[in-house]
Amino acid sequence: MPSDGDARGADFALPPLPKAPRRVLLFVAMEAEAEPIARALGLAPDRLPLGSAGVRSGRTGALEVSLLSPGICANTRVDQIGPVHAAAVLARALERIPCDLVVNAGTAGGFESQGQRIADIVLARDTLFHDARVALGGYDAVARAHTRLSADEATLARMAAALDARVGLVSTGASLDATADELAFFARHGALSKEMELAALALVCREHGRPLVALKGITDLVDHHEPAHEAFMRNLARTSARVAEAIGPLLDELAT
Ligand code: SAH
Repeated sequence: MPSDGDARGADFALPPLPKAPRRVLLFVAMEAEAEPIARALGLAPDRLPLGSAGVRSGRTGALEVSLLSPGICANTRVDQIGPVHAAAVLARALERIPCDLVVNAGTAGGFESQGQRIADIVLARDTLFHDARVALGGYDAVARAHTRLSADEATLARMAAALDARVGLVSTGASLDATADELAFFARHGALSKEMELAALALVCREHGRPLVALKGITDLVDHHEPAHEAFMRNLARTSARVAEAIGPLLDELAT
């Protein structure tokens, strides 16, 4: 499988993968993404007091898995998506749930110009906030938080081959749509996917000294004329099923 980009210019790096992980904390933003994963891994609801966040846990092979999702907003009755909820929920969970590896799985926008299709799988080499624009030296890097994730090139290549996935930049922002400037940014940086949580999770992992791996399934094509939210809703179930299918093999690769 081709490998895209090389994370040049990443200002931060996460700790390397543990040799033999035992406890994995798996973060997923939406219940529609979490349910098929819980089913695939045979996880059961856990009664941890984590506010509106949900935890399902169980064992797969040698790994203890806690599946964490931010849960449903009491006011609006929809999933608490986005970078701020992701960071808050992961930070809180890391204080309560022992783990030696964090994994993020979910859906994302892909790019037709990169030859991607709906339900393709992307493994993140690096992540950043594409909507952080600060024209001040130092602060720009802090706000953009360009971070190399934990898997080294050889591990990424092995996982990509096992999962029929591509490896590259997963870019994070607080919006589902994309501005013209952001589209130019994605093209310039060769982004392979765009979503709303990963860079925030990477920042929390950096603060807590935890390794992080991320896998995304494509629900919509950012550079296609159809609005992202329409394609997203149509493809959410199919892509979430594909992501759920990939999680077992991903965890197997991480555990070997
Ligand atoms: N309309 C949806 C909103 C989901 S927001 C609903 O009400 O159910 C999109 C979620 O999927 C976020 O968690 C984000 O990480 C991911 N995502 C999928 N495609 C995306 C895209 N093109 N841009 C940003 N995030 C995307």
